Amino acid sequence: MFKNSDKLFITGWLFILLGIFLALVPSPGIVKDHPDFHSIDTKAKPIYYKYIALAKRNHLVFHHTATIGFQPLHYGNAIGVCYYFANREIQVDTGYWDNHSDTQKEILLFHELTHCYCGREHDWAKDKKYAETYTEKKIEFFKVILLGTKKPGYWLDGCPMSIMHPSIISDECYETHHIRYLKEMFERCEAY
Ligand SMILES: [Zn+2]
Repeated sequence: MFKNSDKLFITGWLFILLGIFLALVPSPGIVKDHPDFHSIDTKAKPIYYKYIALAKRNHLVFHHTATIGFQPLHYGNAIGVCYYFANREIQVDTGYWDNHSDTQKEILLFHELTHCYCGREHDWAKDKKYAETYTEKKIEFFKVILLGTKKPGYWLDGCPMSIMHPSIISDECYETHHIRYLKEMFERCEAY
């Protein structure tokens, strides 16, 4: 996930491709570029337990545990990443975590947990993903301007329809559409 209004396009799932690439390149000097956390950091536990309880209410059972840790992230303006290697793990940017509200922390972790535990991408409906690349954003922009189509994946008030929006959603949107976000994040979930 990225800071709001971020224009960079690194997503959790891109790390799958990075992982495959690194695995295929026969360079003994290349080290796996992820932190290898072994547990769920205490700071993340309250939100993690809340997520698992909500998942249960949505009749989801997970068979594995994704580890969660805190370290500065150096991928552009990324503030959280779910790594899909043999084990799944979540890295949260320490600087962002230490300087943002409890609501922003919950949104950030729910987003990353949904990547890791549900295999979700930045989608807002089945086969519908948010525009992320420069080209996708331009195409969407011209469709909205020239064809008068509605910006896909957003409600009329401008709030994203999913917590899986690539940039972190605002506290105002989270408050306004709270119940819908908490239900939507478990849709199309492929339980880990
Ligand atoms: Zn994401």
